[in-house]
Amino acid sequence: MKVFKFGGASVNSADAVRNMAAIVKQHATDPLVVVVSAMGKTTNNLELLVPHHQTHTPKNIPETLTKIKNYHYNIVDELFENDTQEVYKQINLLFAQLEEQVMHPSFDYNYNYDQIVSVGELLSTTIISLYLNHKGVNNTWVDIRTVIKTDATYREGKVDWEMTQSCVNHSLKNIISDSGLVITQGFIASSVQGTTTTLGREGSDYSASILAYCLDASDMVIWKDVPGFLNADPKFFANTTKINTIPYNEAIELAYYGASIIHPKTVKPLQNKEIPLHVKSFVTPQSEGSVIKNASYVDPETPLYIFKNNQILLSIMPKDFSFIAEDNLQKIFGEMANIGIKVNMIQNSALSFSVCIDDHHLVFDKLIPTLQKDFAIRYNKGLQLITIRYYTPKIINEIVNHRKIYLEQHSRITAQLLTEM
Ligand code: ASP
Ligand code: MG
Repeated sequence: MKVFKFGGASVNSADAVRNMAAIVKQHATDPLVVVVSAMGKTTNNLELLVPHHQTHTPKNIPETLTKIKNYHYNIVDELFENDTQEVYKQINLLFAQLEEQVMHPSFDYNYNYDQIVSVGELLSTTIISLYLNHKGVNNTWVDIRTVIKTDATYREGKVDWEMTQSCVNHSLKNIISDSGLVITQGFIASSVQGTTTTLGREGSDYSASILAYCLDASDMVIWKDVPGFLNADPKFFANTTKINTIPYNEAIELAYYGASIIHPKTVKPLQNKEIPLHVKSFVTPQSEGSVIKNASYVDPETPLYIFKNNQILLSIMPKDFSFIAEDNLQKIFGEMANIGIKVNMIQNSALSFSVCIDDHHLVFDKLIPTLQKDFAIRYNKGLQLITIRYYTPKIINEIVNHRKIYLEQHSRITAQLLTEM
């Protein structure tokens, strides 16, 4: 059995859906679970509808709703021609639920967020499942909220593995053996109490990996608009090399440093069961792609680059002329952990502590004001963190060129440079 994951870009138009349907049809001869994200930029558009609390309604609700509806209606009209009645019935029901959520929010922003944003995946999978049936590719639509169970941490649900495994054993496995092909949602789940939760932005890869783990899949495939894992983001780099094989641990390191090709939590469950993770192009589905698996080396051996924009460098100095000793570090890290800020790079000296973090509103709303009680804070914004695995001195010279370097660190394998964007 295999688990496929199709992201938003692979289903962002009627043509894209036809293309993904052809890939699914080709592989549906064996048991297959297909995990799908929301179409195109739907999640971003749904985010615009989330009210902060009962008295704070977002601007332009009617316009945003119309935009989301028309986008899906157009895709449906193109895919189903005159046979749209059943699809319209089902997606209109979802739109009605969406409007209900938008108009009657609770006080909890994160809760509202998950109830509203989850509709994107329900829409995409409803349309795709009906389209495949319409084309004679029989499949079963599964509401993944009945399978993947989390705690009630809205927007970042923590998976309850035991319950999820039990739901997979008692329901999903039977559905797969009856139907052969399952179409279901990425990103969304439900709490033990039954409310909708999500696994964090870009969480569909993780959904697929949870299912692959619980189903003991032979392989997981992520279908993307790139030929596979590249050694650098083509947005930042003119000459990229496709990587054929990446060991699991290397993939985890890369995700940790911010490689955007794969959601950070995705690899671990697969590694635990040694399930290979293939990254393949939905544009050229016959080509080889890349695979993350049990291996000793990156193949081919080449430097790997990760660029992270919008970084802030905070310089933190004790106000009382004490040194940056363990108790101060404990205070600083404690605050960052409380607020949920991830540290990308650190350096300390006797009198100051420097930390590179993502530019996030919580840095200015919460972290700095809290730390300012005990520390003097200086900061630089608009920086870029460049991480190079398997660097050479020549590569570092080329990257530094004439740029101002704010922080620099080299270990045996990894070099990190914090510079201007
Ligand atoms: N649709 C969700 C998002 O855009 C989940 C995903 O695409 O992985 O974040
Ligand atoms: Mg997406």
